[in-house]
Amino acid sequence: DADKKRILIGMSNTGGGHKASAEAIQAAFQERYGSKYEIYIVDLWKEHTPPPFNSLPDSYSFLVKNSFLWRLTYGLTNPRLIHVPYLSSVGCFVARGVGEALDKYQPDLVVSVHPLMQHIPLRVMRQRISSGAMPPTNFATVVTDFTTCHNTWFSRDATRCFVPTDFCRGLALENGLEAEQIIMHGLPIRPSFSRPPPPRAALRRSLGMSPCLPAVLLVGGGEGMGALEDTVEQLEARLGDKCQVVVICGRNRRLQERLRARPQGPGHLLLHVCGFVDNIHEWMGACDTIITKAGPGTIAEALICGLPILLNGNVPCQEEGNIPYVLENRVGAFETRPDRIAAIIASWLLEGGREMRQQFEEMKRRSKALGRPEAVYRIMEDLKALADEPFFDFGPATAALLGRNGKTPAA
Ligand code: UDP
Repeated sequence: DADKKRILIGMSNTGGGHKASAEAIQAAFQERYGSKYEIYIVDLWKEHTPPPFNSLPDSYSFLVKNSFLWRLTYGLTNPRLIHVPYLSSVGCFVARGVGEALDKYQPDLVVSVHPLMQHIPLRVMRQRISSGAMPPTNFATVVTDFTTCHNTWFSRDATRCFVPTDFCRGLALENGLEAEQIIMHGLPIRPSFSRPPPPRAALRRSLGMSPCLPAVLLVGGGEGMGALEDTVEQLEARLGDKCQVVVICGRNRRLQERLRARPQGPGHLLLHVCGFVDNIHEWMGACDTIITKAGPGTIAEALICGLPILLNGNVPCQEEGNIPYVLENRVGAFETRPDRIAAIIASWLLEGGREMRQQFEEMKRRSKALGRPEAVYRIMEDLKALADEPFFDFGPATAALLGRNGKTPAA
């Protein structure tokens, strides 16, 4: 089918967010255009590079749990002067694999949703375009971190760079991207968040929740990270049976078992314990507030649902800026100690009096106003244009290579 377009989305499973964003974009394409656009989501590192490079996702899980090592790795590689030559030398070892992936998928557009998927794929693409092994093809980066993101996200040779916030736009400019290369629609979140939710009462009924008790959603990213159990303990000590708490344990099995074993009934919190769920949008729609680590995906989703957000921790470096983002926009609070978290929740939902109820309503309004449910569709439409138009724009290195000086349509 000559009309069919192929889009290769390069991601890597370092944390759950990159894959989630890729799948959100894929779902938006499917919803609007059916099978006209074939979207391939590929872990280029794991599937198309030789050892030891293919163990990148595993090394990330190790590093990020040892915050000192992660800060060191992140800080050392953040300057362009370091990572550009570093990635060039890594590129020598992995170029063949990346080239094979390009051959296999024959993409009309390459999209990256990962910080380590700009420089090397772009270099390989440039070489192949100049040797005639590949037709001129656009490349887009979709930044899936929210604020303080790593500089490897930004390559001047990307046709377009989609950023979620002004903060990231600033970083893109600092890294030398032109203003017209940068587009800001928001973070791409699954289309299920874009549809208007059913009334809260109906949602609560279908989820087996109490219709009248205030409800707190407690999550720790895809891995169920953070002091979730202590937080449940403290919420119970503070609120007893006057509140219900939904705990989403993600892939953390043991946490789920321990929470299920807790006593229930009068004097105890009404607990709803889930593993990894596909319907977080429903749980968010049914609850009054969320306690979460500062994950970009979860924050963007909570904003779409108009929830005040209590941040209880963060992955070092790339999630650090998400805390001032929530505080400065006055859509929540930051507190790591479980007893104080319980006190904040008590004042937001039960004990704060009339003034606090008013402030809480305002937080809900501001949160909803910051949410970007349409971002995924806008990004998808712009990507569609980049896939349909063979090659309408390119960065300086590609331009030099082709002997043109920018923005000339393909012959
Ligand atoms: N998530 C989910 N089901 C679960 C737990 C998490 O769908 O049971 C999703 C959540 O909605 C969000 C993503 O996993 O989209 C987590 O991304 P985030 O950026 O918040 O944190 P990460 O896990 O990537 O560190």
